[in-house]
Amino acid sequence: MAFTNEVRGTYQKELEELRSAGMFKVERCIHSAQGTDILVEFPPGAPPRKVINMCANNYLGFSSHPDVVKAAHAGLDSRGYGLSSVRFICGTQDIHKQLERRMTGFLGTEDTILFPSCMDANSGVFEAVLGEADAIISDRLVHASIIDGIRLCKARRDIFSHTDMEDLEAKLQLHSDKRRKVVITDGVFSMDGDTAPLDEMAALCETYGALLFVDDSHSTGFIGKTGRGTHEQYGVMGRVDIITTTFGKALGGASGGCVSGRKELVEMCRQKARPYLFSNTIAPVVVAGVLRVLDILSQSTERRDKLESNSAYWRKGLTEAGFVLKEGDTPIVPVMLFNAKLAQDFSRDLFDEGIYAIGFFFPVVPKGQARIRTQLSAGHEMHHLEKALAAFIKVGKKYEIPGKTREEIIARYGA
Ligand SMILES: *Cc1c(COP(=O)(O)O)cnc(C)c1O
Repeated sequence: MAFTNEVRGTYQKELEELRSAGMFKVERCIHSAQGTDILVEFPPGAPPRKVINMCANNYLGFSSHPDVVKAAHAGLDSRGYGLSSVRFICGTQDIHKQLERRMTGFLGTEDTILFPSCMDANSGVFEAVLGEADAIISDRLVHASIIDGIRLCKARRDIFSHTDMEDLEAKLQLHSDKRRKVVITDGVFSMDGDTAPLDEMAALCETYGALLFVDDSHSTGFIGKTGRGTHEQYGVMGRVDIITTTFGKALGGASGGCVSGRKELVEMCRQKARPYLFSNTIAPVVVAGVLRVLDILSQSTERRDKLESNSAYWRKGLTEAGFVLKEGDTPIVPVMLFNAKLAQDFSRDLFDEGIYAIGFFFPVVPKGQARIRTQLSAGHEMHHLEKALAAFIKVGKKYEIPGKTREEIIARYGA
């Protein structure tokens, strides 16, 4: 009975504070498989309604693709439901080794190690390959899992301004006395949809003797001419030393992640990375699904090509309609509204029009940069995009947004 009413009260107060600060997250319940057309219950308790999903990481439309589901079924039948073990005791099957080889081939690296998630990959890799004598230099906007991974390791930390190559060079000079230096960035930044300039970063790393580490979770499968990732897009395949990525986004959306790169670094993870050593093996059903995704991707670039043309159509449509977007050419298209309440109201009105796209505001994005982050998928057909565009324009007109500049929107609604 140590959880006294007094203790309970302190937590209730903290939760109340989150609510009153507008930072309390409410989950919306989906009553269907993940996909382009989904059944969403919102507000909680309301009958589920069919909406077009514009906010999933289902970039290639594999989340409930019939071939992937079928392969997962077959994996379940042939390799069972779970491994009940970590990899190094008795949790490694032939299909896990096969997936590691396939990812190595796909990413053009030397070796790959699977993790229960990319969060775990990022949590484990720094501590496994770096020590006190080393330095990690990260882009200011890297993903939370990278920040946590860096915290778990004893290397010296430093930050460079977002995609600022002059600042990165200054930091590389500053840490030139360290034994090893690692520069880490997201390939595609998920909030803004912009990419890291990997060609310039690779050149700087080579000049200053630093390793280059890219988290390509929002790229693997569709960025670059054949979808290998940002290293393909920037022409630096073979020059990135560590890539982490997830199977929880474009590659089927179930779960799992990996570290891929120089074989000695991968081997260090196999020997020392704690989330690898002490967390259960990825379920065989998931491995079988990802293997099928890789088969499909190796047969043609049709899905990533369709995603690219969908993204271009969507960006052009919103721009011509007069919305303020974040610049970029990825399937992440943020529609800027600047004000947190406006973003929430806009999202709710879109839902009423049958479009599911969530408002993002502080602390997920900086204050005064509230937005609706839209994400495209190869699963979107033209009729989905036309309907979604019409809804954005209709709701936009209600709030008199189209044609307004950032300054005009902020003058009216605040930031
Ligand atoms: C989504 C994401 C992760 C986490 O991936 P999981 O496999 O879901 O843990 C890590 N890094 C980046 C950049 C991401 O976008």
